[in-house]
Parts: sequence; C-alpha cells; structure tokens
Amino acid sequence: MPLTKIVCTLGPSTESPEVIKEMLRAGMTVARLNFSHGSAAHKRETVDKLRRITQELGVTLALMGDLQGPKIRVGTLPDPGFTLREGQRVTLTAEEIRDPSREIPFPHPEIIPDVHIGDRILLDDGTLELEAVAESPGRLECVVRVGGLLTSHKGVNLPGAKLQIPAMTAKDYEDARTALALGLDYLALSFVRRATDIEMLRTYLQQQAGVTSPRRAGENPHRIPAIVAKIEKPEALEDLDAIVHAADAVMVARGDLGVETAPEQVPLAQKRIIRLCNRLGKPVITATQMLQSMIELPRPTRAEASDVANAILDGSDAVMLSGETATGKYPVEAVRMMAKIAETVEHSTAFPYNQLLSMSDTDEDTDNAALISDAISEATVVIAQSARATAILTSTESGRTARAVSRHRPQVPLLGITPFAETARRMQLIWGVIPAVVESFVNTDQMIQTMVRAAARRGYAQVGDNVILTAGIPFEVHGVTNMLKVHTVRAKDLA
Ligand code: PEP
Repeated sequence: MPLTKIVCTLGPSTESPEVIKEMLRAGMTVARLNFSHGSAAHKRETVDKLRRITQELGVTLALMGDLQGPKIRVGTLPDPGFTLREGQRVTLTAEEIRDPSREIPFPHPEIIPDVHIGDRILLDDGTLELEAVAESPGRLECVVRVGGLLTSHKGVNLPGAKLQIPAMTAKDYEDARTALALGLDYLALSFVRRATDIEMLRTYLQQQAGVTSPRRAGENPHRIPAIVAKIEKPEALEDLDAIVHAADAVMVARGDLGVETAPEQVPLAQKRIIRLCNRLGKPVITATQMLQSMIELPRPTRAEASDVANAILDGSDAVMLSGETATGKYPVEAVRMMAKIAETVEHSTAFPYNQLLSMSDTDEDTDNAALISDAISEATVVIAQSARATAILTSTESGRTARAVSRHRPQVPLLGITPFAETARRMQLIWGVIPAVVESFVNTDQMIQTMVRAAARRGYAQVGDNVILTAGIPFEVHGVTNMLKVHTVRAKDLA
C-alpha cells in the first residue's frame, strides 16, 4: 500500500459492494460522500454498506462528508438549454421569465448588489463568460464574452466579487446534522472565505452534539467530525494562515480555485497551501482532475500521472479522485493507478524523506506542551534513521503526535497506536500513518508491551529489532508527547 493516502468520491459508479471492496484493496483510505448530490437516506445506506464491508475485510476507512456550501447556480432552463452567442445581451433575473430568448433564471437576488459593472461572471466551470453591464433590483444585464450552450443548474462563479452571502446555507446546516448523526470522521466546508467560517461550523456541530464539558480520561477525543477547509476562493488565499490554523485539515479544491482565480495560478497556490499545512502539521489533500481522462479511458495521460506525482512531491498527505470514481467507467483502475504512481514516487530518490525536518510550527507564542511535542516528533525521525529502527510507534489518543511525526516524512514505517477506533479512522488521511487500535494501558511497561506487540503482529518488529516509541506520560495528562524511547524488542515483549 502507498504511504500517500487516497480519497475517493463515491457515486453511481461505486454502488456495488464488490467495487468498493476492490477500491479498498487497491488503496482507498478515505471515502468522500458529496452532499451536493443524493438524499440523506441514501447517505445512510452508503455509510451502513461501507461499515459492513470494512468490518468484513478488517480494514480502516475514514468517512468524509462534503458540504455544498454557498454554491451559486442558474435556475431551471427549458430543454435543451440556452445558447449564449458572443456579443449578445442577456439578463440574469430572479423574477419570473418573460422573454426566454434573453432572460436566464438566477435564483440568487441577494448577491446582485455585490456584483459591479465590468465584473466577469463565469458559468459552467468557467467554460462560458458574461460581463456585467447594468444592474437593477433582482436583475443583472450582461454581455456574452464567451458563448456556448448553458444548461440547467450550472455553477456560477464571480471571481472579482466579494459576496456578502453566509458561509452556510439552510441545506448545509441540515447536511451537517446528517453528517453528525452518521458519525462521519471528516466534514469538508466548500467556498471557505475566512477562518470564522470554520469556527462557525465547529460551534454549530458542538452545539448539535451537546459538547459542553472538557473530555474525561478514556473518553473518545472526537465528538464531532474534523473540519476540512476547502480552499477554492481568492479570499481564502488572502486569509490562508488563519484558515489553516482554524481547520483540522485542508483541501486544495483546484476545480473551483482554477475558475475563481485562473488556471495558471493553481500550481503556485497548491504549493503554498501544502507547504503551510506541512509546517502546521495539518493533513492536506490535493483534489480535482487528477486522473480526469480515466473517467472515460482505462489509462491516464502522461500529464495526469505527472500531476499526481508532483502533488505527492509537494507534500500532499492525500490525493483525491472525484468524477474518476464517482461517475467514471474505471473507478477501481483509477485507484490502482493512483496507488501505483504514489508507490513509484515514494520508492524514488526524488521523494523528500527527512527533508521536511526543518519545518516547524513553533514561535515565541508556542505553549510549552506544543514545544515539547514538536521537539520529540522531530527527534523521533532523526533517531529512527540513526538507530536503524524498523518502525516508529507513536502512542496517540487524538492522532496529533502521529500528524506531527508524519510531517517530517520518516523513512521507516510509522504506526499510530491508539485505543480509539475514531482516531484510527482519522489517521487514514495522514501521510504514512499505519493505524492500529489497541486495548488502553495503565502503566509504561504495559504500554511498551502493547505497542511492540501491535507492531509485531503487523510485521513491523521482531526480536532484536530497534523500534522508537513515543508517548505522553503520565497517561491522564492529554495533549503532550514528552517521552521517546529506543527499544530493542525482547522475546518477553512478544510472549
Ligand atoms: C473543487 O472545486 O475542486 C472541489 C473539490 O469541490 P467540488 O467537487 O465540491 O466542486
């Protein structure tokens, strides 16, 4: 299995349990359920099916919901659609259509005041373009700059405009409640513009989950889904630092990002976002059109293979498949291809093993616990190499230590050992972490034995091997990793 994690979007092409099983065997570690499509009842059926399959195969799969967010779309158009001709004047209107030859239904009157004369209005993922020329309440007069066929409910992007719309729609609130009820591990928020958007979703989920008191020892540390910030707006790039700090994970959502900014901006934005996430120890996913041609064909283009490889070399924790698995003809082959590209890159001398070591999140404001955890995670990777360890075994309640070690891209296997199944699932988004669920332990000797046995059972340690153990001691204190031990495996550890 590759060390890079693979997120697969589910859809009509992945309905069959056999397809899901093959995708898991090929390397899928996170299943993405897109709330832009399908009902809550169908989401529940899918989640039940995934849980049955993962139990049967004995594998760990994280489940990620993806909220549609304030996506702007045109309304329903008569079949076969509306042909936009270059130079033609058309009106986007929230009112009743009186002249179907020049009026396009646009059910978002609230955003019209935020559009300025001269602004570009992009339709259908940027393939069609209008320019705003006049405005009146509920109506926007435009000239067609790039024509073509516009069909119902196509997306609308307003790259220049700062829209005063809320970060979440009524549908998003309802879908967030569904995600919580289904126990999803991650929840992605689309069109994030500022850090407060993330905080708003977090507060809402905490209220809905009734999370008020601090966690008690032995209690599951994840009472709400971890929040993924989708970076796809120019405003998000302006507030990137605060957004990454506020989020639990990040997605470089290159589809909308390439429309909201410009295609030539995407590669540099991708590198900037990934670098910041690596430094802050936040899992980062590179998404969209990675193996796009595999929607129709069993092989990717050379450019797509290079794109996946480069995203991994940039420092992505995970790479994502969208239409390739959701609606494509070759969902299993797409996962296999992604895994093969990842493994090839990871086995090459081009991969920056240990080279991200100088990355650090600490500054003068860093609290002591974080300072110590950071120092231990960095030292772990250095010592693992020089002591020729066969594995790094991190004891982790929330997954934080595993994240901190992973960002240095260790060259030896990294096990995230936890008593919580919820934490194990979340670690399936973190580069290189092999999750292992164990019984909880009460003292250091028991901890060492439990961790070494977990590694031995999975083939990562045998008698005489050096392994690196990290943990937080004493156990009842949360949030600090302060112990590092180089341990030579003894027969009695495995007895
Ligand atoms: C994207 O725009 O790249 C993306 C991942 O979002 P969605 O698939 O929800 O459009």
